Amino acid sequence: MVLPLRALLAGRRRLPRPAAAARAPAAAARLCSGEAEAAGGDGAMLQHLARKLRASGPVTVAEYMREALTNPGQGYYTRRGGVGESGDFITSPEISQVFGELIGIWYISEWMAMGKPNTFQLVELGPGRGTLTEDILRVFKQLASVLSKCDVSVHLVEVSPKLSEIQAVMLTGGKVQPNPEDESAYMKGISKTGIPIFWYRDIQDVPPGYSFYLAHEFFDALPIHKFQRTEKGWREVLVDIDPEVPDQLRFVLSPSRTPATQNFIQPEETRDHVEVCPEAGVIVQRLASRIEKDGGAALVADYGHDGTKTDTFRGFRNHKLHDVLSAPGTADLTADVDFSYLRKMAQGKTATLGPIKQREFLKNMGIDLRLQVLLQNSGDTATREQLLHSYDMLMNPEKMGDCFNFFALLPHHRLVHPDKKDKPESKSPLPPVAGFNELLLK
Ligand code: SAH
Repeated sequence: MVLPLRALLAGRRRLPRPAAAARAPAAAARLCSGEAEAAGGDGAMLQHLARKLRASGPVTVAEYMREALTNPGQGYYTRRGGVGESGDFITSPEISQVFGELIGIWYISEWMAMGKPNTFQLVELGPGRGTLTEDILRVFKQLASVLSKCDVSVHLVEVSPKLSEIQAVMLTGGKVQPNPEDESAYMKGISKTGIPIFWYRDIQDVPPGYSFYLAHEFFDALPIHKFQRTEKGWREVLVDIDPEVPDQLRFVLSPSRTPATQNFIQPEETRDHVEVCPEAGVIVQRLASRIEKDGGAALVADYGHDGTKTDTFRGFRNHKLHDVLSAPGTADLTADVDFSYLRKMAQGKTATLGPIKQREFLKNMGIDLRLQVLLQNSGDTATREQLLHSYDMLMNPEKMGDCFNFFALLPHHRLVHPDKKDKPESKSPLPPVAGFNELLLK
């Protein structure tokens, strides 16, 4: 039953998407590294932080980041949202619908490889504008004949009221019910394709069950701790108010070790500067436990490294780098994901695959075939140019191709046959995991 995937990849037409497939070239993606530039425009969040710092002293970078991004009143995601051409940064699903389509195919391919369970939840962490889920649901609709006996539901984990509203419009046309009774969800609705969708603030609220998890540019938005090696040993980087300049923030080092320094720096660490995101660790632990218990898989896509990089904390505003300490709450703050840490935090409960580069993952998923077919069938030059431009953004090693990575959590039995003594007849090889290997079309 892999034929429908081929049919989808080689489909003559683009699957209809309400908005244009590729966006303005002016919109910049957040790439892996760069120099921050200063920007002005302080506001309410700065006043709030300055008061707090004056009253109780410096805070960790993690606490600063949490306040700046998700403070319920003034946080960046709470108020501004930021994703998209008109926001502060653009992401792969916003650049091309092909991206989400290939991810939709990945889930179907895994669902088939895992024996087509009769129900699954698609759980997206940090869905932004809802574009990726929208593209995936279009693929599910296109493959309705394959999924006909499967009960699918969508579960979105989103802290931002502003973004959840945008998601509701994108996915349901705005027909949602806030605060549904008897649910841990804060909102629910039905997708334009007829699939129930629920919204939560925390992964813990999502009901248990066989689930496919998705986290695209989510982990990089979670708060990090920063540590610096000094002659006196490891110190934590803190954020403080500058006593010389009113309402200006600055970095300082903790005078002694902090609890985080003791917990998160490994004795064998060789770098001089280290960033750790404990919240990402906790979430990966939860995902791994849930997959171990209830089945499914998780796909994580983000920029990041494998425990090698040092100072990657940076800000984005209006598609430009922005000083992380300037005008908090008005800019996106982000740090590269440490995939070696995520792998460690899965604690062997699941197998892990990757990280592999975005361009390799998408190539394995058949992006070249998809592009060729779309190019052959697009009549006008503008559309062809748009298709080529968005392909280049996603695949070019200098753009998003090399610095974005794919990483997966999968049940052990998906990669290694369970004890063959129990099942001597099951000698057939396990199907390779698409994306990390070539998608099987035959
Ligand atoms: N996945 C989207 C958006 C990435 S931006 C895309 O690729 O286009 C980060 C997303 O994570 C936003 O939706 C933001 O509101 C959400 N987010 C940030 N911190 C969060 C948290 N602690 N819990 C849940 N969602 C969070």
